[in-house]
Amino acid sequence: MIPPRFDRQVRFAPLGRAGQQRLADARVLLVGTGALGGFSAQLLHRAGVGTLVLADRDVVEESNLPRQVLFEEAHARAASPKALAAAEVLERAGGPTRVEAHAVHVDADNLPALAAECDLVLDGSDNLPTRYLINDYCVREGLPWVYAGVVGSAGLLLPVHPGHGPCLRCLFRDPPPPGTLPTCDTAGVIAPAVGAIASLQAGLALRLLVDPEGLEPALVELDAWSGELRRLGAQRDPACPTCGAGEFPYLESPTTGEAVILCGRRTVQIRGRGKVDLERLGERLQVAGVEFMRLGDILRFGVEETRATLFPDGRVLFEGTEDTQRALALYDRYIGS
Ligand SMILES: [Zn+2]
Repeated sequence: MIPPRFDRQVRFAPLGRAGQQRLADARVLLVGTGALGGFSAQLLHRAGVGTLVLADRDVVEESNLPRQVLFEEAHARAASPKALAAAEVLERAGGPTRVEAHAVHVDADNLPALAAECDLVLDGSDNLPTRYLINDYCVREGLPWVYAGVVGSAGLLLPVHPGHGPCLRCLFRDPPPPGTLPTCDTAGVIAPAVGAIASLQAGLALRLLVDPEGLEPALVELDAWSGELRRLGAQRDPACPTCGAGEFPYLESPTTGEAVILCGRRTVQIRGRGKVDLERLGERLQVAGVEFMRLGDILRFGVEETRATLFPDGRVLFEGTEDTQRALALYDRYIGS
């Protein structure tokens, strides 16, 4: 039984009632629910995809609001975890989609569990190591995924359908050294570029879920400032280490160090050393005269010039610094091992 809300969608012949049923049965992982991920999540949620699994490591801040369409000022004021804020807003729209939210940093350890039983993965991440990790996992598992990236007014998109065209490493063998590509930090970003790429990404997601046969994978490049769109042919490379030789280095080694600087923010993420007992930590902070607040499983405290957010998996974001050594020192001093 197809709910009446999808009437106009099932009238679109390539989708039809059978396609709508496939969407209803589908489970999709979104890695990142900020700009691209949030936009794509909204489109897939509205389209009636059965289950959306949202994973995001970050919290909402005010400078997200021009392009991260799921978030509101109240989320920025509360520094809500993006995955939870996204789930809240999507669920408010109603509809049959189930949403599972995970406020985690996606890495080689947790990706297999997050992607378990999924039919598709969408890239809404903000960094290349995560994309190469997704590529390794999806090629190994034969799972389609859609790479997407936006900087400034430009966007790039590649659907990867293992066995039916190139993977990310066929086209870009290795990520360039850190610091060589422009980022949202250095070049800024405008929302129309995000919306354009996310719309193409969500469109390909529906296609891959409903009727992947005959889809010609191509690298798509667009510019939302000049209105240009280019479709570049993309060939599989038989010498590709991932889809050719079956090497999956990003799955075999930890993808992040203990401390990383988040893109576009004065924020350092500390991976942490496992689950923290929040009751005991709260008592210790109180003794030390540090003000803190609990938001369910999340504990937030201000320390020196930073604001710290501790997640259930032991991960901490220190906002207000880009100094990883300093953040590690604050972690040791206030949370400890
Ligand atoms: Zn390849």
